[in-house]
Amino acid sequence: MPDEKAIFAANREWARAMCESEPGFFDRLVNQQEPEYLWIGCSDSRVPASQITGLRPGEVFVHRNIANIVPIDDLNCQAVIQYAVDVLGVKCIVVCGHYGCGGVLAALRGKATGLTGDWISSIVALREQHASDLAALATETERHDRLCELNVIEQVRCLSESEVIKTAWSRGQALQIHAWIYSIKDGLLKNLNTSVGGPIGV
Ligand SMILES: [Zn+2]
Repeated sequence: MPDEKAIFAANREWARAMCESEPGFFDRLVNQQEPEYLWIGCSDSRVPASQITGLRPGEVFVHRNIANIVPIDDLNCQAVIQYAVDVLGVKCIVVCGHYGCGGVLAALRGKATGLTGDWISSIVALREQHASDLAALATETERHDRLCELNVIEQVRCLSESEVIKTAWSRGQALQIHAWIYSIKDGLLKNLNTSVGGPIGV
């Protein structure tokens, strides 16, 4: 594990390399933040939004939590969404899950307790909602993968029905919501093709 000293050294080297390759890079960022993407992803350490997308500082506003969910009563998550849509004017919200998600597995197995259990309770409900489809799959890995996908699709549905998003669409703001999923096995993103671009799913 890199110690604190090593992390600061790596940071200095990164800042130096950025200045060398793009003079004025930090000066440009200081006075403006105009990201076109809001990324809602899992807190999992293996799914870093910027690195896997190639998006650079200033290009993506990020919210991460366990199992990338967007509870309507979570002030943190909803405030991020409101700021991104109303103030930053992002053009695209990506909900990105990942296969092998521990939060989703805990919901699948009904194992999580305490605060984590409370947090993923909506995924437990989703599991129940799709119980027969999941039971038709042969292995737990397949059921886990499918529930990871269903969870992303469900979050896109919840987002598209939130007041912030509906208000943005009603005033004509161009705003797409996409459902993506990432594979830790090969580092690739997959589009789940459930994009929403307006109240009627344009
Ligand atoms: Zn996860």
